[in-house]
Amino acid sequence: MVAGRFAPSPSGRMHLGNVFSAMLAWLSAKSQGGEILLRIEDLDPSRSKTEYAEAIMDDFRWLGLLWDRRAENQSCRGQVYREALRLLEEKGLVYPCYCSRDQLHAASAPHASDGRLIYAGTCRSLTPEQRAEKAKQPALRLILPHREIRFTDGLQGDYAMVLDEDMGDIIVRRADDVAAYQLAVVLDDGTEGVTEVVRGRDLLSSTPVQLYIYELLGLKAPKFYHVPMLLAPDGRRLSKRDGDLDLGVLREKMKPEEILGMLANWAGILDHPESVSAKELASVFSWDKVSSKDITVHEKESPFLRGI
Ligand code: GLU
Repeated sequence: MVAGRFAPSPSGRMHLGNVFSAMLAWLSAKSQGGEILLRIEDLDPSRSKTEYAEAIMDDFRWLGLLWDRRAENQSCRGQVYREALRLLEEKGLVYPCYCSRDQLHAASAPHASDGRLIYAGTCRSLTPEQRAEKAKQPALRLILPHREIRFTDGLQGDYAMVLDEDMGDIIVRRADDVAAYQLAVVLDDGTEGVTEVVRGRDLLSSTPVQLYIYELLGLKAPKFYHVPMLLAPDGRRLSKRDGDLDLGVLREKMKPEEILGMLANWAGILDHPESVSAKELASVFSWDKVSSKDITVHEKESPFLRGI
C-alpha cells in the first residue's frame, strides 16, 4: 500500500508553497490508490503552537486534501527518539558537542548573508548555578563518514553527496534535549509506514544524510520526490515568515477549487488554471507532467490572484 504524508511544522499558517507540496503528496498517493498520513512536526517547543496545528488541519480540510491516518505528534515521541539516540551512542556513532551557535559562526568568515546577531551579553551575568545548569547537557552530533550517498529522486533525478565533505557531522539532539529534525523525520517516516515522501526541493540536500540514518537504524527508506519551490517575482522563496499569500489571506479571496486549479496549472498538471476539486485532479495526475523547475509566482498572470 502506497502511503504518502503531510508533515507540517505548526510554526505559522501555511503559505502557497506548503499547499503546493501537500497537494502533490496527496495527488501522488491518491492516484495510486494509496493513503495519506498526517504528522504534526512540533519538535521545536519554542516555535510550535497548537493554534497553528489546528489552523493547518482546518486548511487541509477546506482544500479537500483529507488525510486517512493521523500519526502521533512529534512532541509526544521523545521516548522513541531517546531510544534511537541510545542505540547510536552504543555503536559509538555520536559525540557530545559543546559549541554554541555563536561559536560555530565564529569558525567561519563573516558574510553579510549570515544573519549574524549582535550578542546581547546574556551569558555575562549568569549565576554559577545557571552556568552549571547550562553546561550539563551538550548537544549530540552524528559522525558522518567519508562516503558518497547516491539516490534517484522521483522528480529531480540522480543526486549524490559525500557525507563528511558536503555536510559535516550533524546535530541529532539539541542542547535543550530536543531530538533534531534529521533524526526525528527518519524515525517517524521509517516506523509509520510511509512509502513516499513528497516535499520541497529545499530539503533535497538533507536526503543523503537521512538515507544514511535509515541505514544506521535498519529502517526501510521511502521513495523521495522533491518538488519545485514557489518564488516571489523578486526571486526569493515564499515563506511563512513573510506572511506571503498565506491561507488566512487566500481563504478570504478564493475558493478551494480555484487554489488547487492554480497550483495544478503551475505544476504542469493542468494546461489552464481552471477550478477543480482534489478528486478530479487525482484522476489526471501523473508525475510525468510535473515540472522539476522552480516556479516564479507572477501575481498578475494568475487570474485568481489578481487584486490580492
Ligand atoms: N516539517 C517540515 C516542514 O514543514 C517538513 C519536513 C519534511 O518534509 O521532511 O518544513
